[in-house]
Amino acid sequence: MREQPDVDGIIYRMSDSSPILDAATLGLIHITIPVGMLHCNCSIIGDPQTREALVLDPGDEVGRILDLLGRHKLTVKVIVSTHAHIDHVGGLSKLHQYTGAPVLMHRDDLPLYQAMDVQAAFLGVAPPELTSIEHLLREGDALRWGSFEAKVIHTPGHTPGSVCLYLPQDGGSIVLPAPQLFAGDTLFAGSIGRTDLWGGSLDAIMSSLRNKLMHLPDETIVHPGHGPATTIGHERQLNPFLAKA
Ligand SMILES: [Zn+2]
Ligand SMILES: [Zn+2]
Repeated sequence: MREQPDVDGIIYRMSDSSPILDAATLGLIHITIPVGMLHCNCSIIGDPQTREALVLDPGDEVGRILDLLGRHKLTVKVIVSTHAHIDHVGGLSKLHQYTGAPVLMHRDDLPLYQAMDVQAAFLGVAPPELTSIEHLLREGDALRWGSFEAKVIHTPGHTPGSVCLYLPQDGGSIVLPAPQLFAGDTLFAGSIGRTDLWGGSLDAIMSSLRNKLMHLPDETIVHPGHGPATTIGHERQLNPFLAKA
């Protein structure tokens, strides 16, 4: 018995300093921090036992990310980018240099990643350093770290190589109270990703949503690439883009 919950099972949302104990995500360490000027949600998903972590979308502010990893005594095993927009990939190289962890993204977003100077000019910022991608993700790939096993779901539409990570309830040796979906910019609370940028396709994103994400259980907690968390059930009912005609 302990009086105060320690870091195990506490998730941090939207701020490094205000821990929120969320019963729905007990069993994993999940820290989300919005980074950079576009407030990309960078997620740290850690195993409370082995202290191994996956870092998703380190778009910027790698110093802050490293500080959180250190504070929670987490070792980064793998770095994943949900897609190659600058706000999601800006810190890949730096985080790789500091941690040595491999960087993964989908092959279909490599042209976007390699055109970082174009994306940077579009936003009027300096282009971030690029890193080598050690593994190209594919639909159905299993990512393992700590006791977790997440499944890669290829969800083209926002970009050709957009992926979501799905952590089923029994994904690994820790049973979670609910499945977790890390949705990148494919699905947001009340909205979906824009499709008017390079490689975007409204048909493709609707197909990804209807034929893949909407097949997940209602209780799945969705962690979008921007903004607040939601659930598949909530979006199925209330997201105007998913409402049945
Ligand atoms: Zn994006
Ligand atoms: Zn984004």
